[in-house]
Amino acid sequence: MPYDVIIVGAGPAGSAAAQTCAVQGLSTLCIEEHGTIGYPVQCAGLLSNAAFSECRITDRPVLNRVSGARVITGTGSEILIDAKIQKAVVVDRAAVDREMAESAAEAGAEYRLKTSVYGVEGNTVLTRGAYGHEEHTFKILIAADGPRSTIARLYGMDRAKVFLAGIQADIPHDCDPRFVEIYPDASPEFFAWSIPTGPGRIRIGLCGQTRVRKRFAELIKKFGAASTTHLVTGTLPLGLMPRTYGHRTLFVGDAAGFAKPTSGGGVYTGIRSARHAAATAIGCCEHGIFDDPALAEYERRWQADFGRELELGFRLFGMRQKMSEEELAGIIQALREPSILAAIIEHGDMDRPGRLIKKLMLNPGMIPLLKPLILSGIRSFL
Ligand SMILES: Cc1cc2nc3c(=O)[nH]c(=O)nc-3n(C[C@H](O)[C@H](O)[C@H](O)COP(=O)(O)OP(=O)(O)OC[C@H]3O[C@@H](n4cnc5c(N)ncnc54)[C@H](O)[C@@H]3O)c2cc1C
Repeated sequence: MPYDVIIVGAGPAGSAAAQTCAVQGLSTLCIEEHGTIGYPVQCAGLLSNAAFSECRITDRPVLNRVSGARVITGTGSEILIDAKIQKAVVVDRAAVDREMAESAAEAGAEYRLKTSVYGVEGNTVLTRGAYGHEEHTFKILIAADGPRSTIARLYGMDRAKVFLAGIQADIPHDCDPRFVEIYPDASPEFFAWSIPTGPGRIRIGLCGQTRVRKRFAELIKKFGAASTTHLVTGTLPLGLMPRTYGHRTLFVGDAAGFAKPTSGGGVYTGIRSARHAAATAIGCCEHGIFDDPALAEYERRWQADFGRELELGFRLFGMRQKMSEEELAGIIQALREPSILAAIIEHGDMDRPGRLIKKLMLNPGMIPLLKPLILSGIRSFL
């Protein structure tokens, strides 16, 4: 008997899809190439309150709670955005993935670990690993296989527009556990960060396109870190895949390039896309229709949910790429204006920056700074 749904990858997107499908009674198989879910970790573990609640798990993986951020530029300009209430949590990401998988398994999803998908022939995935060579047949396939998506490569799909490389280390260091720190100039193509995991411990890291290792070595040196107990490397896909369905398959999470181009966070959009994919898969199985017009329902759902936010984020990312240190310092200076700072605190949303941009565009002090965005016709996105 074919499975109703086969999911490739047991990250947050894969397990969210598996859980939703299994709860609805679909026969569901989730295939993961690693033997332990959640490892290797490829994440800074900073989740907005909304992103964490999307995981639908206990508080056990939460290491710290943060209420704001300090942005510090290379020229010494600094701004503190303090919401004074919890805005995000810092999590043990491996524990998040594990709890999500456990919840899907309890709902009835089957997991096959240490098993890698290396081919798709018609409606059958070909796997190798701990169980030897196997073939599993599906009615619908969900590709949740992360930034390097084997399934996208096998189908020759066009991928995300930009791939950033990331490196991060956990180190002992004094910190104010309430605030994340952002260093835009330490990685001019994106940014560097310091995330407090608790009193006296931080995660420092950065993402970029070029000289990533060299810049990371400079960052580590600045913090005087002699050694680290946890080193993370990973890839961040930015810019939407032109088409996220086809061949009875739906692409979710990083496999579809859904990481947010403003923050690099991909858990929120990954899980939400997975639930949209699961809802589409449930509809297809109910009606026994798996053609492209039926699968297109998935793209309509995620576009309506967060498509505009990702488009806007990609334009902001483009602006950031062209910005000099001085221009960035000018923006930080302008953001210090009390009415602008108040708007950031009230309307800032890590997952949905559109609302804040709309508010800022109404502030005369911000208009010259947002000019490139306004000229790019961004109003139609807001
Ligand atoms: C340095 C760094 C820091 C980040 N920090 C944050 C952060 O603080 N907050 C945030 O929200 N996001 C962050 N992200 C992004 C976030 O980690 C991803 O967006 C998120 O993990 C995407 O989830 P996913 O389920 O789509 O993919 P993944 O988590 O990558 O899961 C894909 C799974 O598929 C498996 N797989 C791949 N190929 C196969 C195959 N052929 N067969 C079987 N299994 C396969 C993999 O082993 C993996 O388990 C960060 C990323 C990087 C690189």
